[in-house]
Amino acid sequence: MSPISSNLHDLTVAQLAAKLRAKDVSAVEVTQHFLARSHAADNLGAYLAFNDEFTLSQAKAADARIAAGDVSPLTGVPIAHKDIFVTKNFSSTAGSKMLAGYYSSFDSTVVNKFDCSGMVSLGKLNCDEFAMGSGNENSAFKPVLNPWDHSRIPGGSSGGSAAAVAARLTPAATGTDTGGSIRQPAAFCGITGIKPTYGRASRYGMIAFASSLDQAGPMARTAEDCALLLSAMCGPDLDRDSTSLDVPAEDYSRSLNDSIEGLRVGIPKEFFGEGLSADVRAAVDAALKEYEKLGAKLVPISLPRTELSIPVYYIIAPAEASSNLSRFDGVKFGHRAQNYTDLNDMYKKTRAEGFGDEVKRRIMIGTYVLSHGYYDAYYLQAQKIRRMIADDFQQAFKQCDVIAGPVAPTVAWKLGEKSSDPVANYLADIFTLPASLAGLPGMSVPAGFGEGGMPVGLQLIGNYFSEAKLLNMAHRLQQATDFHVRKPEGI
Ligand code: GLN
Repeated sequence: MSPISSNLHDLTVAQLAAKLRAKDVSAVEVTQHFLARSHAADNLGAYLAFNDEFTLSQAKAADARIAAGDVSPLTGVPIAHKDIFVTKNFSSTAGSKMLAGYYSSFDSTVVNKFDCSGMVSLGKLNCDEFAMGSGNENSAFKPVLNPWDHSRIPGGSSGGSAAAVAARLTPAATGTDTGGSIRQPAAFCGITGIKPTYGRASRYGMIAFASSLDQAGPMARTAEDCALLLSAMCGPDLDRDSTSLDVPAEDYSRSLNDSIEGLRVGIPKEFFGEGLSADVRAAVDAALKEYEKLGAKLVPISLPRTELSIPVYYIIAPAEASSNLSRFDGVKFGHRAQNYTDLNDMYKKTRAEGFGDEVKRRIMIGTYVLSHGYYDAYYLQAQKIRRMIADDFQQAFKQCDVIAGPVAPTVAWKLGEKSSDPVANYLADIFTLPASLAGLPGMSVPAGFGEGGMPVGLQLIGNYFSEAKLLNMAHRLQQATDFHVRKPEGI
């Protein structure tokens, strides 16, 4: 191995792209390096599918583009995709037995956009089944280990994405965030991730969990990388996603270095209450001090319905999931039971065999809250409170430009610690759910280390379409700190 390729995996997306453009290294060399690392790290459980032949063909095509001078800011850089994005050239399972071995006849818009920009797909990344979970322990295939401590979860549901980036198996990954699944695993693995405004990135070809909440976003090591990736993945897709916003794609890199002098950073008191562990609080407080040094002003604010976001989300998300998952009936997609007596029996057995416990639990809750007699009491009430939660943010944004707080109440917990207690998992989502319910952009930025030397994430939440501001804030913090550069031992 040449001296360059021995440390290729430490380079960021931006650095790799520059080296590729300068022809210091070829896309094939870079790809081979990351593929070798990814295959060798099987013990982490981050990947669910590879197709090396296809991956190398993409790398060759990228080299041809670079030779012809036809480059985007991402050409030749590898990326891996959460297994919730459907792809033609890799199986797409959403972490479920229901879809084991399933190949889509088309690529999701997000994957297609990265392909068009010349990125090279390394493979598909493990996740909680249908993105339901907070620790990646709900994957039907295998858990993912946290690269910082193999006895801990990497977060979820985009746990494979976060672990793969943290372990330098890929410089970038896609994730999806319905109630925190980009921000929380990014925080737990010490990387950077952003969920844009709902509707900003197309949901076409993203296997649906809760359609009014699901949103795709990038996960990488730096805010600079996330800006490059987000610019490539967003934009209208009006013919194929009815909730896609008719707002042109933006160049999120342009304002990374803007001054944040005078910026008002809202600190919601509800995010700093009893439930927040002391180690996470200390790291978040230190990051906020950095912002003060950079000229920002901290403003106390209130998001009074923060606590209600848990019951509201855990009514709305299962309600939508119960409807979305009705398509998995053994007829059209994936698994079908072998032995059955009639059509009804086939449906029942297929679904009993194909879905895991958490998915079944949510289908049952969802069906219940939507049923006659309970719809008004649960679903309708939840929708009303969801609106109030969104209004609370608008009140807050009268006093501040951006909101900051922790991503999660603790650092990553031990594998198995909460797996038999679904409610304990749900409660840990308290700080990510409010922005999801309001459809606001949110991001996680490495902000230090807590108990057991585990990474802590700072959450930044902005108003609709303020992705550039969030990335600017994150980038400024990353210029002042080195948390995003640190890596797990032995990597
Ligand atoms: N942890 C939350 C859940 O289990 C969020 C998951 C997500 O964002 N996909 O639903």
